[in-house]
Amino acid sequence: MDYDPESDSYICRHGKQLTAVSKRTQKTATGYQREVTIYECNSCDSCPYKKDCIKGNNCKTAFEDRNKRLSVSRKMEEKRAECLERITSDYGTQLRMNRSIQAEGSFANVKEDMNFRRYLYRGKENVLAQSILLAIGYDINKLHHKIASERTGTHLFELKKPHNF
Ligand code: SF4
Repeated sequence: MDYDPESDSYICRHGKQLTAVSKRTQKTATGYQREVTIYECNSCDSCPYKKDCIKGNNCKTAFEDRNKRLSVSRKMEEKRAECLERITSDYGTQLRMNRSIQAEGSFANVKEDMNFRRYLYRGKENVLAQSILLAIGYDINKLHHKIASERTGTHLFELKKPHNF
């Protein structure tokens, strides 16, 4: 549903408005308390989408008399929007691209280029020690390539810009 911040309401697919009717505090399983706003449609009578739209059979009100209700944490919605803006910005896109290159690429390099297929020792401590040695070796190798290609001082690959035809 589309949210209209000016009227603090939602518009459903049937063109009806769901307005804020109350607020309540909820506690999550981890003990976090959040405030949710309840939005309600003022009339879902004879709506062709009602069966898909209104879920849950625990309500005491007869289905035909029920109106759609939504519980929304406005803070959560704001944080979600902020997050989306950050990860889709140029810098966010660059970080996501680098994460896939640097993290996923490292596993592939270690397995394929360095032919590391299995640990030589058993036990957590030995496996950890071998992992650390492997990581140090990998990093030295990487630094060597960076020095050779004069890319020291940068820790992120640049985003490739699309070519203009
Ligand atoms: S059931 Fe109510 S909220 Fe859902 S689409 Fe129909 S009118 Fe809109």
